[in-house]
Amino acid sequence: MSVASASLDIQKIREQFPILNQEVNGKPLIYLDNAASSQTAKRVIDSLIQFYEKDHANIHRGIHTLAERSTKAFEETRERVHEFINSAEADEIIFTKGTTESINLVAQAWGSKYLKEGDEILISQLEHHSNIVPWQLAAERTGAIIKVIPINQKGEILLEEYKKLLSERTKLVAVNYVSNSLGTINPVKEIVSAALDVGATTLIDAAQAAPHIKIDVQELNCDFLALSSHKMYGPTGVGVLYGRREILEDMPPYQGGGEMIKDVSFNGTTYNDIPYKFEAGTPNIGEVIAFKYAMDFIDEMGHENIQAYEHELLEYANKKLRSIKGFTPIGTSDEKASVISFLIENVHQYDLGQLLDVRGIAVRTGHHCTQPLMDFLEIDGTVRASFAVYNTKGEIDVFCDALESIVKKFS
Ligand code: PLP
Repeated sequence: MSVASASLDIQKIREQFPILNQEVNGKPLIYLDNAASSQTAKRVIDSLIQFYEKDHANIHRGIHTLAERSTKAFEETRERVHEFINSAEADEIIFTKGTTESINLVAQAWGSKYLKEGDEILISQLEHHSNIVPWQLAAERTGAIIKVIPINQKGEILLEEYKKLLSERTKLVAVNYVSNSLGTINPVKEIVSAALDVGATTLIDAAQAAPHIKIDVQELNCDFLALSSHKMYGPTGVGVLYGRREILEDMPPYQGGGEMIKDVSFNGTTYNDIPYKFEAGTPNIGEVIAFKYAMDFIDEMGHENIQAYEHELLEYANKKLRSIKGFTPIGTSDEKASVISFLIENVHQYDLGQLLDVRGIAVRTGHHCTQPLMDFLEIDGTVRASFAVYNTKGEIDVFCDALESIVKKFS
């Protein structure tokens, strides 16, 4: 047994995911679509039940016991995120409904104040649509220009080319930490540091990094960072936007409504302090509260152990898959999270996805919300298997055997 598998008790971990213990299409479920959404840990589900059965009330407004209870638990999650990503203060943590909303918040609120005609926004060829389209909308509104950081055929950002694109016109650099389609781990610290040299603001889309890699926003030195709870064993409908205090304070609000105000009259409104200025309306209270338990779960295992174990799964799968006839890996960076994208000669990716599903194996097919990346690679899409900490080598064996048998049928 390797060091990585020895440090985590995978069977015990699996017991915390009741959903895994079922048959799909008459076969034991093998869930390999974790980059889309990981499954929800039992303690997170328990917290949701506790909230809706015992504690449910709106937050920040009521003085009754349930309102105080839910407000306290909600704010505890903010403290927990602050600790989890090592922000300087808890007030720099804004709750959103996901990474998409976090990026849209920045593109609208920050973009409307700081972007003007001719300014340049740098994003990479690897981005998810949610780190492309909000900038296209901002560019349409302001006259700013989007420039694309190129990558190589392995799916790696070309750092020297990136540095050549930087200039005093660069107002924002927004890149993902880990590519959802290929699993590439990008050198974000170096990307941020070069952006700072030209005075650009930086945003990191950490949706795919947060479940695998320890995030320290102060060490990364980024201005904004976005993540989603549902990719971290937590509930859907909860995201985080981290923003540096000075920038958040200087930004206009994103949406207007309750909670984000101090005072409203028909003559005008005084906005609330951060983070509340950016949290208009009733949030997903129970889900935010439950998210705390997902972070506890990750921290108890330790990012280092998670990463080592998932890397072991990745290597194991890579080795087995390479022996399958017609197998072509898509995205072969040396630095990768536990994502394998691939194609198999003469079998369409959708057919593969469906035939795997018949065998109880859940993978993702298609463009994975990265159409510009697929265009660059000159493909329509891939089959993507993405591993979480509860996956096992035994599951990878079944997955590879299933692929072999499908490929035999097609040849
Ligand atoms: N960015 C990346 C890299 C992603 O993988 C995803 C989701 O797949 C998103 C952003 C969007 O996240 P959400 O759908 O939770 O808003």
